[in-house]
Amino acid sequence: MIVVGAGIAGLACARALRDGGARVRVVERGRVVGGRLASKRVDGRYVDIGAAYFVADDPGFVDQIADWERRGLARPWTDTLRVYPGAEETTGPVRWAAPGGLRSLAADLADGIDVRLESLIETVPDDADAVVLAMPGPQALRLGPPPAVAAAARAQTWRPVIAAILTYPEREWGELRGAFVNEHPLLATVCDDGDRRGDGAPVLVAHSTAELAAQHLDDPSAAGPVLAEAVGELLGLTAKPEVRVHRWTYAQPEPGGADYAVDGRVWLCGDAFGRPRVQTAWLSGRAVARALLG
Ligand SMILES: Cc1cc2nc3c(=O)[nH]c(=O)nc-3n(C[C@H](O)[C@H](O)[C@H](O)COP(=O)(O)OP(=O)(O)OC[C@H]3O[C@@H](n4cnc5c(N)ncnc54)[C@H](O)[C@@H]3O)c2cc1C
Repeated sequence: MIVVGAGIAGLACARALRDGGARVRVVERGRVVGGRLASKRVDGRYVDIGAAYFVADDPGFVDQIADWERRGLARPWTDTLRVYPGAEETTGPVRWAAPGGLRSLAADLADGIDVRLESLIETVPDDADAVVLAMPGPQALRLGPPPAVAAAARAQTWRPVIAAILTYPEREWGELRGAFVNEHPLLATVCDDGDRRGDGAPVLVAHSTAELAAQHLDDPSAAGPVLAEAVGELLGLTAKPEVRVHRWTYAQPEPGGADYAVDGRVWLCGDAFGRPRVQTAWLSGRAVARALLG
């Protein structure tokens, strides 16, 4: 069996297939595993530039997190975030983070799995009993999947995000943790990467609104100073940060139904099958594996 895409959906699928006794190979176009569980090395430490954190309420995913926590790979970060405008605190579920960056969790899932990196797949492979496309629908469509999978992929709606890594000379924002920024034309969230990772580094990560990202998809670096300015104004910061950006063309899907799509031997899974979250991607990949093994 072949899984295309080494994000958390593809890796969860491959691991469950392997644990069920199947022979499975994962192919990934990137140089590293993780997809949108993405941690970029900046100044000798990892910064999370994709998913900001994850939450868990599915018993299976809760078990997975307990295993990561026991091995020091995941840590409960906070249940309290700030909401702008107003700067009120809001309490919700525990948000989990990873001391080594969230990508380290994908690397853990990939351990012992046959993963081929830097392998861009351009058509659905024809040398496998089953092919799992574990990626956003618009990316899956480029591989020419069969009709029912193509229809499911086309039915997905995606929003872009530009992430800005803001490195400051020192921490100037007190107890921030993270914030949802509502009704802002440019800024959607800002998170304290030093706080969530636990090393106290003076690094914030801002995520743009889809509207700002859409304007800058061809030139994402131009959005960097705009986001830095917006964060500075929001938090009343005086220092100017070093700015690095990352463009996510397919960042967040509209919530979808079902656990996956399938047509013959071709399957499609990922976070568009449910609420667009890390847990959903993990569950979707596992659901495909269960169906294939069954
Ligand atoms: C900015 C941002 C903020 C987010 N914040 C949160 C959050 O706070 N909490 C939360 O739970 N979730 C969050 N998410 C969502 C979360 O990151 C995703 O739900 C999850 O990582 C999706 O995993 P996936 O495996 O479905 O897809 P992906 O991670 O996108 O994996 C798809 C993989 O397929 C590969 N691929 C694609 N096409 C090909 C091809 N042709 N050949 C080979 N490989 C291919 C890609 O390179 C990629 O590695 C956020 C996402 C973004 C971008």
